[in-house]
Amino acid sequence: MKQHILNYTKKELEEFIQPKFRVKQLYGWLYNKKVTDFMQMANLPKELRKNLSEQFEILSSKIVSKQVSVDGSIKYLFQLKDGHTVEAVLLLMKPAQYNEDGTIKHLPKYTVCVSSQVGCKVGCAFCLTAKGGFVRDLTAGEIVEQILQIYIDNQIESNRKVNIVYMGMGEPLDNLDNLAQAIRIFSDVEGLSISPHRQTVSTSGLSSKIDKLAKLDLGVNLAISLHAVDDELREKLMPINKAYNIASIMEAVRRFPVNLRKKVLFEYLIIKDVNDDLTAAKKLVKLLNGIKAKVNLIYFNPYEGSEFKRPSEEDVKKFQKYLLSKGVLCTIRESKGLDISAACGQLREQNLQGAGQ
Ligand code: SAH
Ligand code: SF4
Repeated sequence: MKQHILNYTKKELEEFIQPKFRVKQLYGWLYNKKVTDFMQMANLPKELRKNLSEQFEILSSKIVSKQVSVDGSIKYLFQLKDGHTVEAVLLLMKPAQYNEDGTIKHLPKYTVCVSSQVGCKVGCAFCLTAKGGFVRDLTAGEIVEQILQIYIDNQIESNRKVNIVYMGMGEPLDNLDNLAQAIRIFSDVEGLSISPHRQTVSTSGLSSKIDKLAKLDLGVNLAISLHAVDDELREKLMPINKAYNIASIMEAVRRFPVNLRKKVLFEYLIIKDVNDDLTAAKKLVKLLNGIKAKVNLIYFNPYEGSEFKRPSEEDVKKFQKYLLSKGVLCTIRESKGLDISAACGQLREQNLQGAGQ
Protein backbone atom coordinates (compact mmCIF):
# COMPACT_ATOMS: atom_id res chain seq x y z
CA MET A 1 0.00 0.00 0.00
CA LYS A 2 1.19 3.50 -0.81
CA GLN A 3 2.33 5.75 1.99
CA HIS A 4 0.81 9.17 2.53
CA ILE A 5 3.49 11.76 1.83
CA LEU A 6 1.73 14.43 3.91
CA ASN A 7 2.56 12.39 7.02
CA TYR A 8 6.21 13.36 6.91
CA THR A 9 8.28 16.32 7.99
CA LYS A 10 11.04 17.49 5.66
CA LYS A 11 13.62 16.01 7.96
CA GLU A 12 12.00 12.57 7.83
CA LEU A 13 11.77 12.66 4.04
CA GLU A 14 15.45 13.52 3.86
CA GLU A 15 16.15 10.08 5.29
CA PHE A 16 14.93 8.36 2.16
CA ILE A 17 15.17 11.01 -0.54
CA GLN A 18 18.69 12.10 -1.49
CA PRO A 19 20.24 14.59 -1.98
CA LYS A 20 18.58 16.83 0.59
CA PHE A 21 17.72 19.68 -1.75
CA ARG A 22 15.33 17.38 -3.61
CA VAL A 23 13.15 17.27 -0.49
CA LYS A 24 13.10 21.05 -0.41
CA GLN A 25 11.95 21.04 -4.02
CA LEU A 26 9.36 18.36 -3.28
CA TYR A 27 8.03 20.38 -0.34
CA GLY A 28 7.73 23.39 -2.65
CA TRP A 29 5.65 21.39 -5.11
CA LEU A 30 3.44 19.96 -2.40
CA TYR A 31 2.83 23.00 -0.24
CA ASN A 32 3.53 26.03 -2.43
CA LYS A 33 2.49 25.06 -5.92
CA LYS A 34 0.12 22.45 -4.48
CA VAL A 35 0.68 19.98 -7.26
CA THR A 36 -1.11 16.71 -6.58
CA ASP A 37 0.71 14.52 -9.11
CA PHE A 38 4.38 13.63 -8.66
CA MET A 39 4.87 13.38 -12.43
CA GLN A 40 4.20 17.12 -12.77
CA MET A 41 7.07 18.05 -10.46
CA ALA A 42 9.12 19.27 -13.38
CA ASN A 43 12.47 19.94 -11.71
CA LEU A 44 12.70 16.53 -10.06
CA PRO A 45 14.55 13.80 -12.02
CA LYS A 46 12.17 11.50 -13.87
CA GLU A 47 13.40 8.47 -11.97
CA LEU A 48 12.65 10.11 -8.63
CA ARG A 49 9.19 11.20 -9.79
CA LYS A 50 8.48 7.63 -10.82
CA ASN A 51 9.72 6.20 -7.53
CA LEU A 52 7.71 8.70 -5.55
CA SER A 53 4.52 7.88 -7.49
CA GLU A 54 5.06 4.20 -6.84
CA GLN A 55 5.66 4.59 -3.14
CA PHE A 56 3.55 7.55 -2.13
CA GLU A 57 0.20 9.18 -2.59
CA ILE A 58 -0.41 12.91 -2.12
CA LEU A 59 -4.14 13.16 -1.47
CA SER A 60 -5.75 10.36 0.49
CA SER A 61 -9.20 11.85 1.16
CA LYS A 62 -12.03 13.13 -0.99
CA ILE A 63 -14.27 16.13 -0.46
CA VAL A 64 -17.71 14.51 -0.48
CA SER A 65 -19.82 17.46 0.53
CA LYS A 66 -19.43 21.18 0.75
CA GLN A 67 -21.86 23.71 2.20
CA VAL A 68 -21.46 27.44 1.82
CA SER A 69 -22.91 29.63 4.54
CA VAL A 70 -24.51 33.03 3.89
CA ASP A 71 -21.58 34.58 5.77
CA GLY A 72 -19.12 33.03 3.32
CA SER A 73 -17.83 30.25 5.57
CA ILE A 74 -17.55 26.86 3.92
CA LYS A 75 -18.01 23.54 5.62
CA TYR A 76 -16.29 20.52 4.12
CA LEU A 77 -16.94 16.86 4.65
CA PHE A 78 -13.95 14.66 3.85
CA GLN A 79 -14.16 10.97 3.18
CA LEU A 80 -11.03 9.21 4.36
CA LYS A 81 -9.49 6.22 2.65
CA ASP A 82 -11.31 3.74 4.86
CA GLY A 83 -14.66 5.39 4.18
CA HIS A 84 -15.03 7.29 7.47
CA THR A 85 -15.85 10.96 7.31
CA VAL A 86 -14.61 14.06 9.13
CA GLU A 87 -15.36 17.75 8.86
CA ALA A 88 -13.33 20.90 8.47
CA VAL A 89 -14.63 24.45 8.19
CA LEU A 90 -13.14 27.43 6.41
CA LEU A 91 -14.29 30.38 8.48
CA LEU A 92 -14.35 33.71 6.74
CA MET A 93 -13.33 36.07 9.55
CA LYS A 94 -13.23 39.17 7.37
CA PRO A 95 -14.39 39.30 3.75
CA ALA A 96 -12.17 40.71 1.02
CA GLN A 97 -12.27 44.47 0.57
CA TYR A 98 -12.17 46.09 -2.84
CA ASN A 99 -11.05 49.45 -4.20
CA GLU A 100 -13.43 51.52 -6.29
CA ASP A 101 -11.91 50.22 -9.50
CA GLY A 102 -12.67 46.67 -8.41
CA THR A 103 -9.10 45.70 -7.55
CA ILE A 104 -8.48 43.99 -4.23
CA LYS A 105 -7.64 46.24 -1.29
CA HIS A 106 -7.49 43.63 1.45
CA LEU A 107 -7.54 39.89 1.00
CA PRO A 108 -10.09 37.97 3.09
CA LYS A 109 -9.05 36.71 6.54
CA TYR A 110 -9.49 33.02 7.18
CA THR A 111 -9.42 30.61 10.09
CA VAL A 112 -9.64 26.92 9.36
CA CYS A 113 -11.18 24.58 11.91
CA VAL A 114 -9.84 21.03 11.54
CA SER A 115 -10.69 17.62 12.96
CA SER A 116 -8.22 15.44 14.82
CA GLN A 117 -10.17 12.18 15.23
CA VAL A 118 -13.09 10.29 13.73
CA GLY A 119 -15.55 10.57 16.61
CA CYS A 120 -14.39 11.26 20.15
CA LYS A 121 -13.87 9.29 23.38
CA VAL A 122 -14.68 12.16 25.70
CA GLY A 123 -18.44 11.89 25.41
CA CYS A 124 -19.66 15.38 26.26
CA ALA A 125 -23.44 15.45 26.74
CA PHE A 126 -24.02 18.42 24.43
CA CYS A 127 -21.78 17.35 21.56
CA LEU A 128 -22.98 15.66 18.43
CA THR A 129 -19.56 14.20 17.63
CA ALA A 130 -19.72 12.31 20.91
CA LYS A 131 -22.97 10.59 19.96
CA GLY A 132 -21.32 8.35 17.39
CA GLY A 133 -18.61 7.24 19.84
CA PHE A 134 -14.95 6.97 18.97
CA VAL A 135 -13.77 5.41 15.73
CA ARG A 136 -10.10 6.22 15.28
CA ASP A 137 -7.34 8.81 15.41
CA LEU A 138 -6.53 10.76 12.28
CA THR A 139 -3.00 10.41 10.97
CA ALA A 140 -0.86 13.55 10.81
CA GLY A 141 -1.25 13.45 7.03
CA GLU A 142 -5.03 13.37 7.29
CA ILE A 143 -4.94 16.44 9.52
CA VAL A 144 -2.55 18.25 7.17
CA GLU A 145 -4.62 17.28 4.15
CA GLN A 146 -7.76 19.02 5.42
CA ILE A 147 -5.89 22.33 5.23
CA LEU A 148 -4.12 21.54 1.98
CA GLN A 149 -7.36 20.61 0.22
CA ILE A 150 -9.11 23.71 1.53
CA TYR A 151 -6.20 25.86 0.28
CA ILE A 152 -6.47 24.19 -3.12
CA ASP A 153 -10.25 24.47 -3.29
CA ASN A 154 -10.16 28.19 -2.47
CA GLN A 155 -6.93 29.01 -4.27
CA ILE A 156 -5.39 30.33 -1.08
CA GLU A 157 -1.75 31.25 -1.64
CA SER A 158 0.73 29.60 0.70
CA ASN A 159 2.17 32.90 1.88
CA ARG A 160 -1.20 33.99 3.28
CA LYS A 161 -1.60 34.31 7.02
CA VAL A 162 -4.24 31.77 7.94
CA ASN A 163 -5.13 30.63 11.46
CA ILE A 164 -5.76 27.04 12.41
CA VAL A 165 -8.00 25.95 15.26
CA TYR A 166 -8.11 22.31 16.31
CA MET A 167 -11.78 22.57 17.17
CA GLY A 168 -13.34 20.18 14.71
CA MET A 169 -14.23 16.61 15.52
CA GLY A 170 -12.27 14.78 18.17
CA GLU A 171 -10.10 15.59 21.16
CA PRO A 172 -6.74 16.74 19.79
CA LEU A 173 -4.80 15.93 22.97
CA ASP A 174 -6.06 12.37 22.81
CA ASN A 175 -4.08 12.12 19.55
CA LEU A 176 -1.09 14.11 20.69
CA ASP A 177 1.66 12.45 18.62
CA ASN A 178 -0.11 12.96 15.31
CA LEU A 179 -1.29 16.41 16.34
CA ALA A 180 2.27 17.49 17.17
CA GLN A 181 3.51 16.10 13.87
CA ALA A 182 0.82 18.04 11.95
CA ILE A 183 1.66 21.24 13.85
CA ARG A 184 5.31 20.82 12.86
CA ILE A 185 4.47 20.14 9.20
CA PHE A 186 2.17 23.18 9.03
CA SER A 187 4.81 25.45 10.53
CA ASP A 188 7.66 24.49 8.18
CA VAL A 189 8.70 27.71 6.45
CA GLU A 190 9.28 25.78 3.25
CA GLY A 191 5.77 24.35 3.51
CA LEU A 192 2.58 26.22 4.37
CA SER A 193 4.53 28.24 6.92
CA ILE A 194 1.66 28.59 9.39
CA SER A 195 3.39 29.73 12.54
CA PRO A 196 2.53 27.81 15.74
CA HIS A 197 1.36 31.14 17.15
CA ARG A 198 -1.41 31.01 14.57
CA GLN A 199 -2.45 27.52 15.69
CA THR A 200 -4.77 26.91 18.63
CA VAL A 201 -5.29 23.53 20.25
CA SER A 202 -8.67 23.21 21.92
CA THR A 203 -9.07 20.61 24.63
CA SER A 204 -11.77 19.36 26.93
CA GLY A 205 -9.11 19.55 29.64
CA LEU A 206 -6.89 16.47 29.72
CA SER A 207 -4.57 18.01 32.31
CA SER A 208 -1.74 15.51 31.99
CA LYS A 209 -1.75 15.93 28.22
CA ILE A 210 -1.72 19.72 28.57
CA ASP A 211 1.54 19.24 30.48
CA LYS A 212 2.84 16.96 27.74
CA LEU A 213 1.92 19.53 25.10
CA ALA A 214 3.75 22.16 27.15
CA LYS A 215 6.85 19.94 27.29
CA LEU A 216 6.88 19.58 23.51
CA ASP A 217 7.38 23.35 23.42
CA LEU A 218 5.74 23.75 20.03
CA GLY A 219 4.67 27.34 20.66
CA VAL A 220 0.97 26.74 19.97
CA ASN A 221 -1.89 28.51 21.69
CA LEU A 222 -4.12 26.71 24.13
CA ALA A 223 -7.90 26.79 24.38
CA ILE A 224 -9.79 25.12 27.21
CA SER A 225 -13.39 24.02 26.75
CA LEU A 226 -14.48 24.84 30.27
CA HIS A 227 -18.27 25.22 29.95
CA ALA A 228 -18.93 24.91 33.69
CA VAL A 229 -17.39 26.42 36.79
CA ASP A 230 -18.20 23.79 39.39
CA ASP A 231 -17.23 20.15 39.23
CA GLU A 232 -20.72 18.83 39.83
CA LEU A 233 -22.20 20.43 36.73
CA ARG A 234 -19.06 19.92 34.66
CA GLU A 235 -19.15 16.18 35.39
CA LYS A 236 -22.67 16.03 34.06
CA LEU A 237 -21.82 17.91 30.89
CA MET A 238 -18.33 16.48 30.43
CA PRO A 239 -17.72 13.08 32.06
CA ILE A 240 -13.95 13.58 31.57
CA ASN A 241 -14.18 15.96 34.53
CA LYS A 242 -14.22 12.92 36.82
CA ALA A 243 -10.69 12.13 35.74
CA TYR A 244 -9.48 15.72 35.38
CA ASN A 245 -11.37 18.16 37.54
CA ILE A 246 -11.44 21.93 37.19
CA ALA A 247 -8.66 22.51 39.72
CA SER A 248 -6.32 20.12 37.89
CA ILE A 249 -7.02 21.89 34.60
CA MET A 250 -6.34 25.32 36.07
CA GLU A 251 -3.06 24.07 37.53
CA ALA A 252 -2.01 22.70 34.14
CA VAL A 253 -2.96 26.00 32.50
CA ARG A 254 -0.84 27.90 35.01
CA ARG A 255 2.12 25.71 34.05
CA PHE A 256 1.57 26.17 30.31
CA PRO A 257 4.08 28.45 28.55
CA VAL A 258 2.07 31.24 26.96
CA ASN A 259 3.55 33.46 24.29
CA LEU A 260 4.13 36.96 25.66
CA ARG A 261 1.48 38.58 23.53
CA LYS A 262 -1.05 35.77 23.82
CA LYS A 263 -3.59 34.51 26.31
CA VAL A 264 -5.13 31.18 27.12
CA LEU A 265 -8.57 30.99 25.60
CA PHE A 266 -11.39 29.67 27.77
CA GLU A 267 -14.38 28.52 25.77
CA TYR A 268 -17.64 28.66 27.63
CA LEU A 269 -20.57 27.07 25.89
CA ILE A 270 -23.72 28.71 27.18
CA ILE A 271 -26.70 26.42 27.49
CA LYS A 272 -30.10 27.83 28.37
CA ASP A 273 -31.03 27.40 32.05
CA VAL A 274 -27.97 25.23 32.66
CA ASN A 275 -24.97 27.56 32.97
CA ASP A 276 -26.23 30.94 31.79
CA ASP A 277 -26.69 32.71 35.15
CA LEU A 278 -24.53 35.39 36.70
CA THR A 279 -23.51 33.24 39.67
CA ALA A 280 -21.59 31.16 37.14
CA ALA A 281 -20.06 34.32 35.69
CA LYS A 282 -18.95 35.36 39.17
CA LYS A 283 -17.30 32.01 39.80
CA LEU A 284 -15.61 32.18 36.43
CA VAL A 285 -14.00 35.50 37.29
CA LYS A 286 -12.61 33.98 40.51
CA LEU A 287 -11.34 30.92 38.69
CA LEU A 288 -9.44 32.99 36.15
CA ASN A 289 -7.83 35.20 38.75
CA GLY A 290 -4.11 35.54 37.99
CA ILE A 291 -4.30 33.79 34.62
CA LYS A 292 -3.66 35.54 31.30
CA ALA A 293 -7.04 34.53 30.00
CA LYS A 294 -9.57 35.44 27.40
CA VAL A 295 -13.10 34.05 27.47
CA ASN A 296 -15.03 33.13 24.37
CA LEU A 297 -18.74 32.65 24.95
CA ILE A 298 -20.38 30.21 22.57
CA TYR A 299 -24.09 29.84 22.01
CA PHE A 300 -25.14 26.21 22.31
CA ASN A 301 -26.11 25.21 18.80
CA PRO A 302 -29.09 22.86 19.04
CA TYR A 303 -29.49 19.85 16.77
CA GLU A 304 -32.28 17.39 16.26
CA GLY A 305 -32.85 15.39 19.40
CA SER A 306 -30.57 17.49 21.61
CA GLU A 307 -31.78 17.82 25.18
CA PHE A 308 -30.30 21.32 25.54
CA LYS A 309 -31.48 24.69 24.29
CA ARG A 310 -29.86 27.75 22.79
CA PRO A 311 -29.55 30.56 25.36
CA SER A 312 -31.18 33.96 24.84
CA GLU A 313 -29.07 36.71 23.39
CA GLU A 314 -29.93 38.83 26.41
CA ASP A 315 -28.48 36.31 28.88
CA VAL A 316 -25.31 35.84 26.84
CA LYS A 317 -24.78 39.62 26.62
CA LYS A 318 -25.37 39.97 30.38
CA PHE A 319 -22.82 37.24 31.03
CA GLN A 320 -20.30 39.03 28.81
CA LYS A 321 -21.00 42.39 30.37
CA TYR A 322 -20.37 41.01 33.83
CA LEU A 323 -17.01 39.52 32.83
CA LEU A 324 -15.95 42.73 31.10
CA SER A 325 -16.95 44.77 34.14
CA LYS A 326 -14.54 42.65 36.19
CA GLY A 327 -11.72 43.24 33.72
CA VAL A 328 -11.90 39.80 32.07
CA LEU A 329 -11.48 39.93 28.29
CA CYS A 330 -14.53 38.33 26.78
CA THR A 331 -15.87 37.91 23.27
CA ILE A 332 -19.01 36.24 22.01
CA ARG A 333 -18.34 33.76 19.24
CA GLU A 334 -20.20 34.90 16.22
CA SER A 335 -22.27 31.99 15.09
CA LYS A 336 -20.36 31.70 11.86
CA GLY A 337 -21.95 29.26 9.52
CA LEU A 338 -24.89 28.69 11.83
CA ASP A 339 -27.12 28.19 8.82
CA ILE A 340 -24.91 25.29 7.76
CA SER A 341 -24.72 23.97 11.35
CA ALA A 342 -21.03 24.66 11.66
CA ALA A 343 -20.85 23.27 15.17
CA CYS A 344 -18.84 20.19 15.76
CA GLY A 345 -20.08 17.03 14.04
CA GLN A 346 -23.23 18.40 12.54
CA LEU A 347 -22.53 18.11 8.83
CA ARG A 348 -21.27 14.57 9.20
CA GLU A 349 -24.43 13.64 11.04
CA GLN A 350 -26.63 15.07 8.29
CA ASN A 351 -24.68 13.15 5.72
CA LEU A 352 -24.95 9.86 7.59
CA GLN A 353 -28.68 10.36 8.00
CA GLY A 354 -28.99 11.26 4.33
CA ALA A 355 -27.17 8.06 3.45
CA GLY A 356 -29.63 6.15 5.59
CA GLN A 357 -27.00 4.91 8.06
N1 SAH B 1 -12.56 18.21 21.68
C1 SAH B 1 -12.07 19.54 21.73
C2 SAH B 1 -12.09 20.22 20.39
C3 SAH B 1 -13.28 20.00 19.52
S1 SAH B 1 -14.85 20.56 20.08
C4 SAH B 1 -12.83 20.36 22.74
O1 SAH B 1 -13.84 19.90 23.24
O2 SAH B 1 -12.35 21.44 23.05
C5 SAH B 1 -14.79 22.27 19.69
C6 SAH B 1 -15.79 23.12 20.46
O3 SAH B 1 -17.12 22.92 19.97
C7 SAH B 1 -15.79 22.81 21.94
O4 SAH B 1 -15.60 23.97 22.70
C8 SAH B 1 -17.18 22.24 22.11
O5 SAH B 1 -17.62 22.43 23.40
C9 SAH B 1 -17.99 22.97 21.06
N2 SAH B 1 -19.30 22.34 20.78
C10 SAH B 1 -19.63 21.04 20.82
N3 SAH B 1 -20.95 20.87 20.56
C11 SAH B 1 -21.47 22.09 20.35
C12 SAH B 1 -22.77 22.59 20.05
N4 SAH B 1 -23.80 21.78 19.89
N5 SAH B 1 -22.94 23.93 19.93
C13 SAH B 1 -21.89 24.77 20.09
N6 SAH B 1 -20.64 24.36 20.36
C14 SAH B 1 -20.42 23.05 20.49
FE1 SF4 C 1 -15.11 15.41 22.17
FE2 SF4 C 1 -14.85 18.09 22.18
FE3 SF4 C 1 -17.18 16.92 21.47
FE4 SF4 C 1 -16.39 16.85 24.01
S1 SF4 C 1 -16.89 18.68 22.80
S2 SF4 C 1 -17.19 15.11 22.85
S3 SF4 C 1 -14.19 16.65 23.78
S4 SF4 C 1 -15.23 16.76 20.40
